[in-house]
Amino acid sequence: MAFSNHSFGQYADSSKYILPVDINTILVANFGELRPNHFHGGIDIKTEHVTGKNLLAIADGYVSRIRKSPAGYGNVIYITHPQDNIVAVYAHMLSFSKKIDSVLLDYQLQVKSNTIDYTDIPPQFLHVEQGEIIGLSGNSGSSTGPHLHFEIRDAISEHALNPLAFFPQLSESSRPRIFGIAITPLTENSSINGAHKTVFLKAIYTGNGSYKTSIPATVYGAVGISITGRDYFTGSPHRFGIYSTELYLDSIKMHQHTMDEIPFHETRFLNSLIDYSHKYNTGIYYEKTYIDPNNRLSIYNNSVNNGIIISKDSSRHRATIITSDFHGNTSEITIPLIFEKCDTFSIDTTINALYWEDFQTKTDEYYLFIPKGTLYCNAAVKVVPLPYKPSRAESKAYSFHNANTPVHKTVTIGIKADSTLLANKDGLILCRLSKGKRTIYAGGYWIGDFLCAESKYFGDFFIARDNTPPSIRPLYFRNNANLRGRTSMRFRVADNLSGIAQYNAFIDGKWTPITYDKKYGTMDIEFIDRVQPIDGNKHTIRIVLLDNAGNRKESQLTYYR
Ligand SMILES: [Zn+2]
Repeated sequence: MAFSNHSFGQYADSSKYILPVDINTILVANFGELRPNHFHGGIDIKTEHVTGKNLLAIADGYVSRIRKSPAGYGNVIYITHPQDNIVAVYAHMLSFSKKIDSVLLDYQLQVKSNTIDYTDIPPQFLHVEQGEIIGLSGNSGSSTGPHLHFEIRDAISEHALNPLAFFPQLSESSRPRIFGIAITPLTENSSINGAHKTVFLKAIYTGNGSYKTSIPATVYGAVGISITGRDYFTGSPHRFGIYSTELYLDSIKMHQHTMDEIPFHETRFLNSLIDYSHKYNTGIYYEKTYIDPNNRLSIYNNSVNNGIIISKDSSRHRATIITSDFHGNTSEITIPLIFEKCDTFSIDTTINALYWEDFQTKTDEYYLFIPKGTLYCNAAVKVVPLPYKPSRAESKAYSFHNANTPVHKTVTIGIKADSTLLANKDGLILCRLSKGKRTIYAGGYWIGDFLCAESKYFGDFFIARDNTPPSIRPLYFRNNANLRGRTSMRFRVADNLSGIAQYNAFIDGKWTPITYDKKYGTMDIEFIDRVQPIDGNKHTIRIVLLDNAGNRKESQLTYYR
């Protein structure tokens, strides 16, 4: 090994944990993987393409939190293991064990809410033993297929920890692969190969985990290097995130970031670790080995000059990036660098927004407010009219800066409503165009005559009108049906634009829980025998839906059971 101070993942103190499934454990995703706007907070375990696999408590402990939501983690259980101050999280579950489900139902009937975050469960209430089946694996929430999303969190800080540190059983020997690197100019007068523009270089494999670039790069001024690559797990056909990335300039270690622990409130800083605009434009993630000025991630250790390489004299150097996985399998790429003065060229810089200050621009037509700490770097922010009218637009549309610039906190976007719109505000909402030009609900509240939204994206915005209430229809049964043999009723729901904001169901006038799956547009209502035993009588189910634009839909059916 050419470099010293090389550290790999450390196992937790013990190997006393069993895996959370009782089937052959194949991973689909690992900890710290790069995802839209967040780091993957756990590992994904395959469940043989189906739901309903046993989920096991990894050690003795107690259920400390239960959540249910139509998106995100769906049905999720948190089990505290006080002996090590960790919490194991099981997400996208199909169902909970009987004893957990019964406690949840009591709570849900008491709070009368379909989205649940039950946190104050007394420690002695739902004790579990190692190996106990705590529920079944599923595909609930924003899951793209049956699997278990499993996390380990620090019980005190709630930081996500790398689960591989708790399961030496998952050790493997495949190295990461490197696909390419990018060199980016970081100041106005810096250049790569004579131009003030990011240069992308392919990685060429030379054997034994080593790669090189096809050509050296001539750099001048302050530049940063990014890398694209993936990790591989023996026995899994999937591609994974890289655990550790180190940058050396000659023999000096300039930078390292490691996926051991990610504080929940830092996860959106991912957008500053990656080349966001390149990801936006191409879908490909490049991880920077340098740190943006307003990047507050704590995954970095021992960065020299924030990983920024500065070329001022004429000399030859070599940058090396080492990638490694948790188990110490490594790959490295060497990049010959020629430091050479480049003739100055003029660059149009109209920086007006400083990341450490609030920024605001307001005209008669639009409003933009960027709170301090929202940008990762200073920027030349502008708002310009969109040259065409999106199909659903009821107002002029504007490009609020660039959709390929990341936003850490929300920015306030406002568009002035004209007198026609002001005369009838019903169903007015602010919308954004997706990259594929789809109309996406962004929000809608009024500041004077401006319709505003808090947005986590820059991009193209306009006012639209949503006067269409959500729709709902029963699936697999009709009005007046005999449902004696059934355990639940299923409905298909949809909304044309703003999305379903509230949903409630009442059986014979009594509130009853709905399980809403947003991705499938289904709502399930289970018959709860202890609330309403089978009596063969006629019953009424009434469902009330409200969308984000305030449109209401009420549907009523009768059935016999
Ligand atoms: Zn996951």
